[in-house]
Order: sequence, then C-alpha cells, then structure tokens
Amino acid sequence: MEKIRMTTPLVEMDGDEMTRILWKDIKDLLICPFVDLKTEYYDLGLPHRDETNDQVTVDSANATKKYGVAVKCATITPNAQRMTEYNLHEMWKSPNGTIRAMLDGTVFRAPILVSGVKPTVRTWQQPITIARHAYGDVYRNVEIDVPGAGKAELVFTGEDGQEIRQTVFQFKGPGILQGVHNLDASIASFAHSCFQYALSIKQDLWFSTKDTISKTYDHTFKDIFQEIYDTTYKAQFEAAGIEYFYTLIDDAVARVVRSKGGFIWACKNYDGDVMSDMIATAFGSLAMMTSVLVSPDGKFEYEAAHGTVTRHYYRYLKGEETSTNPVATIFAWSGALRKRGELDELPELMAFADKLEKATIDTIEAGVMTKDLALLWEGSECTAVNSRAFLEAIAQRLAA
Ligand code: NAP
Ligand code: MG
Repeated sequence: MEKIRMTTPLVEMDGDEMTRILWKDIKDLLICPFVDLKTEYYDLGLPHRDETNDQVTVDSANATKKYGVAVKCATITPNAQRMTEYNLHEMWKSPNGTIRAMLDGTVFRAPILVSGVKPTVRTWQQPITIARHAYGDVYRNVEIDVPGAGKAELVFTGEDGQEIRQTVFQFKGPGILQGVHNLDASIASFAHSCFQYALSIKQDLWFSTKDTISKTYDHTFKDIFQEIYDTTYKAQFEAAGIEYFYTLIDDAVARVVRSKGGFIWACKNYDGDVMSDMIATAFGSLAMMTSVLVSPDGKFEYEAAHGTVTRHYYRYLKGEETSTNPVATIFAWSGALRKRGELDELPELMAFADKLEKATIDTIEAGVMTKDLALLWEGSECTAVNSRAFLEAIAQRLAA
C-alpha cells in the first residue's frame, strides 16, 4: 500500500510517563503504517529538558512558529518531589506555560463524544469548546487583608506624572481588598485567537462577561472583541456562514445548558477555569478532552487535556497491565495531521485524519474500550481492554 504523502513536517513534542508510552504505540500502530510521517522531533521528556536546561522547550515553540502546526505529548511540570525523582538541576517551569507565553496563544478545550457515554445535559449533541483567556484578572491579583477602619484607594501614576485616583471604599472596620488588571494587547490576542479558531473549525463563537456590572473592566473586553470582529473578521465569518455574538454571562450559561452544542464559548480567565471543568465533567471524562493552543497569527499546537497519568505509569513500571485511555492523544495527532493537510492542500492527509477519528469512535461504539470508559458505559455490552489491545483494535478497523 502506498503511504499518504506529507510535504511540511509536523513539530513533534514528545513527553513523559504513561503518555510517552502511548505516544510511541500510536505512531507505530496508527500513523506510520499509513502515512509517510514527516516530523521535526523535540524530546520534551523531563530528563531531556533537564539536560538542555529547558532549551528544547524554547526550540520546540520556535519551530511551531516556523512551521505552524505542532502535536504535543503530556509532560511533567516538576515540583519538589519530581526534583528528587529525576535528580533535576532546577525546578523547570511548565512547558505548556512556556509554549503558551511564546506563542501568545489561547487554549481551546473540547470533549470527544461517543454514543454510549451520555452527557449529563440531555440536549447536548455536539461538543462545546471552551476558550479561556489565560492572562490576568484574579490570577495576577494583589490583595490586602484590611486590619480596621481606613480609606482604600485605587491610584494610577502615569510615567508622565499623570495621576488617576478613586476611592474604593471607606472602611469602618476590618475587611478585604483586591486589585486586578488586564492588558488591551492580551485581550486583543485572545480575541484574534478566538476568531481564527472559529473560522478554522467553522463554528459560531460566543463571548460572555459581566459588562453590565463591570462597566469599564469587562466592558473593555466586549469592546475590543467587537472592534476586532467588525474590522477584521466580519466578512470572513459571513462568508463561512458562522456567527459571532456577545452576551451577558448569566444569559450565556442559560443558553449553553439549553443548547445542542457545536459552538465555541470564549470566557475570561476565571469564568473559563470554572466553566471548562463544568463542561468537561458534564460531557463525561478528562481522558476524552482535547486541547489546542492557537496563537493570534494562526499557529496551532494540539494535545490531550489530561496529564501524564502517573499512577498508571508506576503500575506499568512494575510490569502490571494498564488500561490508559489514548483517545485524546490520538485526536491530538489527527487534529495536527488534518491542519497540516489543510495548510498544505493535501486532501488525502485530511481524509486520513477523519478516518483515524472515525475508527477510534467506531471501536468504542462497537464495545471495545479502556477501563475508564467501561465504567461510564451505558450502551449494550462492552469489553474493557488494555491500551495496547485497544490501539490494535483501532488499527485493524483503520486498515479495513
Ligand atoms: P493526570 O495525568 O491527568 O491523571 C489524573 C488521573 O485521571 C489519573 O490518575 C487517572 O485516574 C485519570 N486519567 C487521566 N487521564 C487518563 C487517561 N488518558 N486514561 C485513563 N485515566 C486517566 O493528572 P495528574 O496525575 O494530576 O498529573 C500527572 C502529571 O501530569 C503531573 O506531573 C503533571 O505535571 C502533568 N500534567 C501535564 C499536563 C500537560 O502536559 N498538558 C496536564 C496536566 C498534568 P485513575 O488513576 O483513577 O485511573
Ligand atoms: Mg481549574
């Protein structure tokens, strides 16, 4: 059989623990037999990050800027315990954080649906994708534990000496105080990433904040989105037959629950944090969540939303059988291959990505799945298998 051709390499970011094992199996069983795979390989496994003083993470982000599409395996973000476990020189920063900062990107998370694992919300028929702004607000706050009576003020001192001053509150007794900020540039990047991604997957984009209460702060988010939409994306959205709209977050929540799904919901940092956990849980399983980082200039990095599944890896090292779910990692590969195919005008590569996803879903819907899904299964009989057997079952379907 002739393999499917690629022209530009994918940026391949290998990772750690159980997902590193799955990574190799996915390539060996599901990709390389069918695709003449071209990648530029970066080993983001913790030992190699340590050897290179984390330079490999920076190099992989630069390669993503150059080529435009990356696929990433889950990686360990070191903590004190990992320092000893891996004998590290330094407590390296989260690779995802480094890559996100270098690409100035926004993360979009979407569940993979299979019939047999029903969403808690009965009306949901298609995935809901959450876009979370990943800068500022309460995550970069300053707080004061107010000891007693006194005046709290908000003061801005410009570099030109200009001063803006407002009274926050005249305290008569103890209380609490918080200051938060955001940046026009960061909000604009967030908006561009959202519009780009909506166009890329041809789905409506919803954006919600609390602008009726926060008449300057949240209202600025609303205004920046609207201005960028009107000046840069309106015509493209109309041509693609998709819609952008802004609505108050209370209204958005009600509409989301009544919806059929199949759209992107952009949220401020805190709202996105909370709503993405709600959406993920209501759709079923963390092992079935995909994640894609999109930069404002349209570079894409695909990955699974879960981590390296450490508990399973320790069992694997002891020689025990593991049933770790590879679906989100498979979809990271299919997402990246499809995007590469789209950019390089390779319809066969795009079709392969569709077939790989279909073979994966069909395998599960035929009743063959990993243990985590078997626990959620509401369909007729199912067989829980180990990761390798699950991948082999998908490979068989794909070959057929
Ligand atoms: P995790 O790897 O997502 O796993 C947490 C638990 O969720 C697992 O123990 C497992 O539950 C279940 N689970 C997650 N993915 C699964 C899958 N594919 N198949 C079956 N079960 C799955 O999170 P963690 O244990 O908190 O973190 C482990 C490491 O991953 C950490 O070092 C962290 O830094 C890193 N991490 C990386 C990323 C990333 O690279 N994007 C994201 C998050 C965490 P049971 O054990 O009950 O079966
Ligand atoms: Mg959270």
